[in-house]
Amino acid sequence: MDMLSDNPTTIGIIGGGVAGMSCALWLRQLGYTPIIIEQQAELGGQLRHLQRINRWVLGHPNQTSAALAQQYAAHILQENITCLCNVELRQIACADNDFNISLNHQGQQKAIAANALVIATGARVVGAEMFTDTPGFSTTAGIGFYPTDHIDKLAALAGKTVVVIGGGDNAHFTAKDLALAGAKVHLLIRNQPKARVTIRRDVLELSKQGSIVEHLGVGIAAFQQIGDSIMITLSSGESLTADYVFARLGFAANTDFLQAFTAFAGINKTKGYIQTNNACQTSIKRVYAIGDAANAEHQSVVNALAEGARAAQAISEEMAS
Ligand SMILES: Cc1cc2nc3c(=O)[nH]c(=O)nc-3n(C[C@H](O)[C@H](O)[C@H](O)COP(=O)(O)OP(=O)(O)OC[C@H]3O[C@@H](n4cnc5c(N)ncnc54)[C@H](O)[C@@H]3O)c2cc1C
Repeated sequence: MDMLSDNPTTIGIIGGGVAGMSCALWLRQLGYTPIIIEQQAELGGQLRHLQRINRWVLGHPNQTSAALAQQYAAHILQENITCLCNVELRQIACADNDFNISLNHQGQQKAIAANALVIATGARVVGAEMFTDTPGFSTTAGIGFYPTDHIDKLAALAGKTVVVIGGGDNAHFTAKDLALAGAKVHLLIRNQPKARVTIRRDVLELSKQGSIVEHLGVGIAAFQQIGDSIMITLSSGESLTADYVFARLGFAANTDFLQAFTAFAGINKTKGYIQTNNACQTSIKRVYAIGDAANAEHQSVVNALAEGARAAQAISEEMAS
């Protein structure tokens, strides 16, 4: 087995998205040896797939998220930070506050000894699994689950009837984009709308104008494919027929994998998101969690960047004490 590091200041970072990269950079500047452990072939996480201009990062007014991801990854390489991509974690054990990680890296077994671990495994879009028990779902085609998958269809959907399912920001943004593109939109919200004030206001304005029809407090009882259309039966008994359906069902933390490793036994979570204190420490000594994996509420690039920095500083203080 290839032993990657016995440096006493090695910090293992699981996840090579923005949060993991930011933490690695800060640890490097603070004199530590970070190792990024990433399951995908490249660094960048969710940002790599987002070709839209990201309007929320100060100083990068015209850049897409994918371009930001490339820039961040290039910075990590420039700093000569060790990155193991295409990794499958095999074992993570803790002994005397140190962590022994066994992994498969591109077909080779490797081991890392680390003094602290940072979990930066992000979140994923909740998708079709939510409807596996809903009658008719398995035989219905044409339901989009990814938050931006309506964008390249906007022109084609002008004049069509579209159902959007969900009550959060992404459902509201999708409904607004479609309505402005000329579609007739039905927005189905199971409980109460949870979108931010500004986007909620825009949707209410479009509702007043008649291009969005809201259905509040309704669930989906069944789907049925009828030719190229989809009929949705609501829990109220009403039915809607649409040319296309976009479901915006929220996000789930990528933290299920923790259960497989003894080092993380009993780690505290809330609805799958890892609980942390202000210093990004989890309920397990020397285990930190940052970015989307630890945040249901503040999922953004700048939050991920900031938490990477905070965790690195907290690790530095813990190691010095
Ligand atoms: C459609 C969409 C649009 C968005 N738009 C914006 C926007 O405009 N502005 C903005 O600021 N934010 C936006 N966000 C949110 C932003 O992308 C995230 O908040 C940010 O990328 C989170 O970074 P992260 O590093 O915490 O997680 P991620 O980017 O999810 O990275 C986690 C990494 O961990 C890896 N990983 C997971 N499990 C394992 C494992 N077991 N072993 C090893 N590696 C693992 C993953 O492969 C991934 O590379 C958007 C998100 C989505 C989905």
